[in-house]
Amino acid sequence: MQTETAPTANFIRQIVEEDIQSGKHKTVVTRFPPEPNGYLHIGHAKSIWLNFSLAQSFGGVCHLRMDDTNPLKEDAEYVESIKRDVLWLGFDWGDKEYHAADYFQEFYDCAVQLIKLGKAYVCDLTAEEVREYRGTLTEPGRPSPNRNRSVDENLELLSRMKQGEFADGSRTVRAKIDMASPNINLRDPAIYRIRKAHHHRAGDAWCIYPMYDYAHCISDSIEGITHSICTLEFENHRPLYDWFLDTLEMPVHPQQIEFSKLKLQYTMLGKRKLREMVESGLMSGWDDPRMPTIAGIRRRGYTPESIRDLCEKVGVTKNEVWTELSYLSECVRDDLNTKAHRVMGVLRPLKIVLTNYPEGQLEELEAAYFPDDVGLPGSRQVPFGRELYIEQEDFMEEPPKKYFRLQPGGEVRLRRAYIIRCEEVVKDAEGNVVEVRCTYDPDSKSGGPGEHRKVKGTIHWVEASTSVPAEVRLYEELFTVEQPDNIKEGDYRDFINPNSVVVLAEARLERSLSQSRVGERFQFERNGYFIKDLDSTAEKAVFNRIVPLKDGWAKVMQKQ
Ligand code: ATP
Ligand code: MG
Repeated sequence: MQTETAPTANFIRQIVEEDIQSGKHKTVVTRFPPEPNGYLHIGHAKSIWLNFSLAQSFGGVCHLRMDDTNPLKEDAEYVESIKRDVLWLGFDWGDKEYHAADYFQEFYDCAVQLIKLGKAYVCDLTAEEVREYRGTLTEPGRPSPNRNRSVDENLELLSRMKQGEFADGSRTVRAKIDMASPNINLRDPAIYRIRKAHHHRAGDAWCIYPMYDYAHCISDSIEGITHSICTLEFENHRPLYDWFLDTLEMPVHPQQIEFSKLKLQYTMLGKRKLREMVESGLMSGWDDPRMPTIAGIRRRGYTPESIRDLCEKVGVTKNEVWTELSYLSECVRDDLNTKAHRVMGVLRPLKIVLTNYPEGQLEELEAAYFPDDVGLPGSRQVPFGRELYIEQEDFMEEPPKKYFRLQPGGEVRLRRAYIIRCEEVVKDAEGNVVEVRCTYDPDSKSGGPGEHRKVKGTIHWVEASTSVPAEVRLYEELFTVEQPDNIKEGDYRDFINPNSVVVLAEARLERSLSQSRVGERFQFERNGYFIKDLDSTAEKAVFNRIVPLKDGWAKVMQKQ
């Protein structure tokens, strides 16, 4: 585990600090409790960061607990992906891996105890009837006809439920709390339901499964959690959390504390919806670089440091805030600035021929990997020759005013090399520019005596014969709506940004990139930060753009 800077104060940190100072707790034990029903997303990263870094800074521990009490949606594949993602984020639970499914017997024993205390009963209402009886925000609920069953009858029915005598959904066990409570969560909530389903960990040992609110607080207590941190939607469940632990007189009573979820603009979170997008084939997989999953973020090339930095910068509050995507991009750029070698890559190539450069000649130019202001060492040789590629957008036949790049009769500096002048434009039958013929000024070489001759524009380039062919994938926001919270399942297609991925199949990269490895990150000068993707083959490198160097012009305009 590592943190970059001293952690900033937040209200949860303050509570924990006071608990340590007052002697309420000697140590801090938190937990990250994912339900293994999908891959983790960047919202979970916030919770992971919060729980692990909090424990860490007080010398405590953070448990990784699979909240795997639901047999229907869960899968061992998800368990593995969760572990991989937590480790990738830079956090390690050591030997503190737990599974709520390992507490099935304890949950059952607690239900027996609640029944003996007269605080739970077996209810025969159907799900629909339970809903009817529950009442509304303005009307109290009505008691179940089974609410006053005797302890003995309840115990017998529970035991028969466990033995599989009853059909799915035909009975539940409910806590006996208060059908008139203004908090609907306290109107005799279900604690057990019947589901004759195989469980990926417990096998076929059980056919009754505990409900989340009931299992969660007991799991926390069993593990000796001191602070049970969750998101705001559980605030109304806190009285229930406390009721179970008080009523059962559990020796350990963790404090539940809620904070607001991380929400990112143009980004949809929620495992269920993300799974739908993967299973419907809309995304190439859980690790599609457009996905807000940790797996997607990793493949996109974001760094764990930048995600932790984002969490720290956004902070921990109870306010509902949509975080701008540019925050994330800034964190990524900040981190990569001192990590990624600067190299040259041309995304949409236009051929340049230097008519006064000797045919067949290549010269090697020394090029530093980092600019002076970063101040890190390292360099490579970049070949220069008669035929080059530049970006199509760095040439205009009829440029507007203040266009300082290549144009007929105009000069431009090739970065780290020479000044060239455009002499002739070659077009195909349709009138498209297919080649630009130029001359170069041999005295203008960077680092040479004539390097100070001023021209207004500097552009990047690659030498043609040694260049590495590549496919480059550019990404934009996945959704066209700023707050895609309410998109219904199945409706995603209507809101997908058609430019969320743009594939440029003909890119050319400088020679040194033929040595690059999958997962390596670079800055392609002027074009952004890129990572080599696992789709790369011996014939063709594939690079994902992680972020451009600046946010899009449209965004800048929008903000003004
Ligand atoms: P989802 O709706 O995406 O499935 P969830 O809350 O149901 O999210 P869990 O696996 O139950 O998923 O969540 C594990 C932990 O992560 C919980 O403590 C939950 O509160 C937290 N969490 C989930 N989403 C966010 C988010 N957007 N920001 C911060 N924490 C989150
Ligand atoms: Mg959930």
